[in-house]
Amino acid sequence: MSSFTRLRTTDIPGTRDRYTGVDFNLGFHIRHYGLDLTYRVMPNHLSGTATLDVLSYLPLTQLTVDCARTLNVRRVSAQAAGGAQVKVRKFRHRGDNKLVIIFDREVPEDTEFSLVISYSGNPQPIRSRWGEIGWEETEAGALVASQPHGAPSWFPCDDTPDEKALYDIRVSADNPFSVICTGQLVETVRKNSTTTWHYRVAEPMATYLASVQIGEFSTIELGRAGTVPVRAYAPASLRERVLHDFADQARMVQLYTELFGPYPFPDYRVVITADQLEIPLEAHGLSIFGANHADGARTWERLIAHELSHQWFGNSLGVAQWDDIWLNEGFACYCEWLWFEHSTGTPAEHYAREHYQRLQEKPQDLLLADPGPADMFDDRLYKRGALFVHALRLLLGDTAFFTALRSYATRDRHGVVEPVDLFHALRAHLAPERHPELEQLRSAWLLSLPLPPFPTA
Ligand SMILES: [Zn+2]
Repeated sequence: MSSFTRLRTTDIPGTRDRYTGVDFNLGFHIRHYGLDLTYRVMPNHLSGTATLDVLSYLPLTQLTVDCARTLNVRRVSAQAAGGAQVKVRKFRHRGDNKLVIIFDREVPEDTEFSLVISYSGNPQPIRSRWGEIGWEETEAGALVASQPHGAPSWFPCDDTPDEKALYDIRVSADNPFSVICTGQLVETVRKNSTTTWHYRVAEPMATYLASVQIGEFSTIELGRAGTVPVRAYAPASLRERVLHDFADQARMVQLYTELFGPYPFPDYRVVITADQLEIPLEAHGLSIFGANHADGARTWERLIAHELSHQWFGNSLGVAQWDDIWLNEGFACYCEWLWFEHSTGTPAEHYAREHYQRLQEKPQDLLLADPGPADMFDDRLYKRGALFVHALRLLLGDTAFFTALRSYATRDRHGVVEPVDLFHALRAHLAPERHPELEQLRSAWLLSLPLPPFPTA
């Protein structure tokens, strides 16, 4: 066991996610979600079925999935593959947003079966210490931004970041609303006054990165980066501003592709909602911005670069547990600096110094390796994380550093990572006699509270 290895929280049965407070759903994996939903915009009403393809890894007399109580579960049935017998005896929907499904008789381990859950209701975002997350009604439509545990606001799921799955998402909505979901559009079927939009997610995706955006959007082509098309969906009235503010989006995809390896998904899309949003948010192959983020003055270029970089750091390389959120946000913040280094010639070092000075004036009580739920989205985590990435870049030198990052991003592409995976890639590109320096940086930036000295080469 290397000194970097540690036990994952999810390896301890019966425990709960210390960050979200949600109990783990144990004994099975969900391989595929088939969501077949109808949304009526005016009454904010969602109805349909979720088909969960399950594989048990323990014998199960019952199981739980996460499902908000605002959704009314009407029916749960099971269907097993091959000759297996799986029958649902009853289900209970608890106040803690857990749906408990009890089987007629014990389901053996290694059984594949599907759960079909019918539900309907007026979806509401989940209230959390980080604000309202999940399905949210907008002025004319809906949006979904679920990080970290808002997914059960719109579908029953195993809502933990390391349980990635494949998806088919079908949403029917009244014309003229457009439905933009995570995944590739397979088809649209128009019937009378509604259209059904079918999207398929063919790469493993974490529940919090599943998204639905409903509104009156027009499509704005933003160019290509190699073979990757880059597109925006925005209200027609914002077209000129989006074309101006997102003009470099394809060049950003190009830059990160050169630095970190191939873009992980078939395309990149940004949705700009008609509503104002406090912060933009990343989803799988998609990012969501508010109308305020397209102000026609490129005020938010930094965040446009930041959200894109999550496609590598966070979405393809997912965190196994929220403790490691710096692997998402430290890298995404550093990617802002890398974009400006490339586009303006101002070196990342400049931004590093600026933010180092600001960090010096703030309380130094945040542990990067495990910030705790209250500070997981604290700006200090983003900036300290980015400074640590800068320190690693200086230690290895540009050529070795970016080669190591490409190997890190490729090896666990579409999987989950822990800091051990990053350090493994870095050590492979660093002379053995310098490994103790890497260990010192790790200890100072990640595992200690005081701000270490400003990184130097
Ligand atoms: Zn971020």
